[in-house]
Amino acid sequence: MKPIRIFETHAHYDDKAFDDDRDNLLRSLKEEGFDYVINVAADLRGVDATLELTREYDHVYGAIGVHPEMVYELNENTFQHVREVAMKDKMLAVGEIGLDYHGDEVDKGLQKEWFYRQLELAKELNKPVVIHSRDACEDTMTVLGSKEARGIKGVMHCYSYTVETARELLKMGYYFGIGGVITFNNAKKLVEAVEEIPMERILLETDCPYLAPTPHRGKRNSSLYIPLIAEKIAQIKGIPYYKVLEKTHENAKNLFLKGK
Ligand SMILES: [Zn+2]
Repeated sequence: MKPIRIFETHAHYDDKAFDDDRDNLLRSLKEEGFDYVINVAADLRGVDATLELTREYDHVYGAIGVHPEMVYELNENTFQHVREVAMKDKMLAVGEIGLDYHGDEVDKGLQKEWFYRQLELAKELNKPVVIHSRDACEDTMTVLGSKEARGIKGVMHCYSYTVETARELLKMGYYFGIGGVITFNNAKKLVEAVEEIPMERILLETDCPYLAPTPHRGKRNSSLYIPLIAEKIAQIKGIPYYKVLEKTHENAKNLFLKGK
C-alpha cells in the first residue's frame, strides 16, 4: 500500500492557540504524512510569522495576504512589504483575501479596494489566490467576474454559498476548500454543494485553530483532524477514504504547485 500523504491547504499555525505545542504539532504532522501544510496569513503580523514558519519547517508553505477584516492595516508601505514576502518561493498563493460583510467594522469600499489590489498582486506574481468570502456572495462574484480577475486561479476557502453559486465558480475554474463545517449537523447546504462539486475541484482544509470537526466542535482545531473531514467527503461521494486523500492531494498540487 502507498504511504498516506495529506495536503493541508489552509491552517493558521501562527495563532497564539498553538503557542504551547506548535513545534511538536508541526513535527508530528510530518510523521502523519502531511507533506504540505499551507500556513495562511491574515494580517501583517501573520505575514511575518508565516515567513518564519516556512523557514523553520520544510513541509510548511505559505499563503500571503491580508484578510478583509484586517485591510485597515494596509497602505502603500505595508502593501510593498506584503508583496516582497509573497514573491518568495515557498509562498504558494496570495491569501487570504476577499470580502466579509458579517460584521460592520470594516468599510465595504475599503474591503473591495484591497481585494482588487491583492488580486492584481496575484496576477503580477502568477500565483493562485485563497479567497475568504462571508455574507458577501454577490459582491464577491462581481469582483471575480470582472476583467481584473480574469485568468486568476484560486480556491474558495471554507465554501459557504449555494449549489448554484458553486456551479458558476466551477465554470470559472475555482477550487473549493472543504473543512470541519461539512461534519456539522446543520451542514445541509454544504453537503448539497459537495454532492455537486466534482472530486477534481475539492481541497482539504481545516482553518485551524477554528472550525474543528465533530466531535471536537468548539475546541481547538488542528490538521490532525483532517481525516474526519475526508471521511465525511468519502461518505458523501461514495468513494473510499484513501481516494479522498489521494485526489485532494493531487488537486492541491495542480492548483498550488503547477510550474514549480
Ligand atoms: Zn483562514
